[in-house]
Amino acid sequence: MRRIRFHSVRSLKEALEIRARCREESAVLAGGTDLLVALRLESASLPPLDLIDLTTIGSLRGVEWDAGTIRIGALTTHADLERSRILAEGAPLLAAAAASVGSPQIRNRGTIGGNIANAAACADTLPPLLALDARLLLSSTRGTREVDVRDFVRSPYRTILEPDEIVTGMSFRALRGDERGVFVKLGRRNALSVSRMGIACAAAFTSGGSLTNVRVAAGAVVPTVRRFPTVERCLEGTRGDPASIAAAGIALSEEMVRETGRRWSTPYKEPVVRAMLRKALAAMMEGRR
Ligand SMILES: Cc1cc2nc3c(=O)[nH]c(=O)nc-3n(C[C@H](O)[C@H](O)[C@H](O)COP(=O)(O)OP(=O)(O)OC[C@H]3O[C@@H](n4cnc5c(N)ncnc54)[C@H](O)[C@@H]3O)c2cc1C
Repeated sequence: MRRIRFHSVRSLKEALEIRARCREESAVLAGGTDLLVALRLESASLPPLDLIDLTTIGSLRGVEWDAGTIRIGALTTHADLERSRILAEGAPLLAAAAASVGSPQIRNRGTIGGNIANAAACADTLPPLLALDARLLLSSTRGTREVDVRDFVRSPYRTILEPDEIVTGMSFRALRGDERGVFVKLGRRNALSVSRMGIACAAAFTSGGSLTNVRVAAGAVVPTVRRFPTVERCLEGTRGDPASIAAAGIALSEEMVRETGRRWSTPYKEPVVRAMLRKALAAMMEGRR
């Protein structure tokens, strides 16, 4: 394992200053549930790493409601999200995704900032954040920029985060009374499972019962977690009838095959991805947030 210089900081300003100074030779530590695993695999011959511990910065942790907008600090743990009354009301799909992460121990340590910054294809909070049209706050000593979560992940484990930046938080509009959102996940087993696939859907219902502003995002279906506009178009303006849902499922599995090619797992994944979307949409239509 490479040598580590550990920085226990007292403020975000201090963390950002070290980040600006050490850049590529630094990393921030949140819950450590991804980072510590990764560090153990690194070669001892690498230069020392400046590890900046963010856990003491209380201002980066919490869920707030601000006139219909929900704001979440990057250091908020999955357990915090799972228990949040604000999310239960305004973004139950994100609370459900957080509740599905790992085990109680992982949820007590792992943070939403770490989950999205790590940018794994199976990161459970990314599909709901995409379906909620979230905006992320990226801070450095140069200032804070706000980016659309859609633009954040470049490819698996690669983001647009600059070497001097830290994810400080995120915000999105809470679901209104005429909107619903769900998250469904397929794991290899019921507990401690990293997602084999995860799908988040959100939509508004018109007074006539048609779906509008449909958002469908999936993780671990294609290499990079993303929205699926072709699937959304199959559902937009429909009443979520079986034919539209079947067409949406076919569109999703076709996109998967187009991006990943046919593999040994494709005959399994094709029907599963369609069934998962069907399950998510059925739950959304029934109003189970
Ligand atoms: C047994 C086990 C089960 C798991 N199950 C799941 C699961 O079901 N679903 C799932 O999605 N994940 C799962 N994970 C992965 C992990 O727990 C989550 O991704 C977690 O949210 C990571 O957050 P963290 O705070 O621990 O990040 P850390 O490990 O501290 O950091 C992860 C990476 O992000 C960077 N980082 C952290 N915070 C920030 C920030 N604010 N700004 C910029 N960069 C930052 C770090 O430098 C590091 O590169 C599992 C992990 C384990 C070990």
